[in-house]
Amino acid sequence: MRKASGCLMNLLKHCEMPKYPHPCTHCGFCCLVEICPAGLGVLGVSESEKRQPCPLLRWQGVESRCALILAGAKGMGDGEGCCIKATVIHKGEARDFAALSEKEKVVLTQQFIRG
Ligand code: SF4
Ligand code: SF4
Repeated sequence: MRKASGCLMNLLKHCEMPKYPHPCTHCGFCCLVEICPAGLGVLGVSESEKRQPCPLLRWQGVESRCALILAGAKGMGDGEGCCIKATVIHKGEARDFAALSEKEKVVLTQQFIRG
């Protein structure tokens, strides 16, 4: 069998990579900063007003869940990992929010809620 070229190997590696490599820890940050397309549709909120906490977010302590998913909605990315694209300055360092630890996400989210 012929060896796969480096380029093909890279492509195969890319295909095997999960879409969102970091787990969702249910910190709720993404839904606090912006209402997702599904939420906009259900709530009848316009795209231009999406930068606000989603009223469909439900809390149990510091853990959050989407009311639509709790009600059985499918195809909303539940279980696919942390999908947020955000850079945060944490302890003086620019970090990818999705790659933060569960504890770091909780601390930053709770600080954000307290303002
Ligand atoms: S709580 Fe649900 S509907 Fe609202 S932004 Fe989050 S995922 Fe979307
Ligand atoms: S910011 Fe990431 S970890 Fe937090 S609830 Fe959203 S998807 Fe999950």
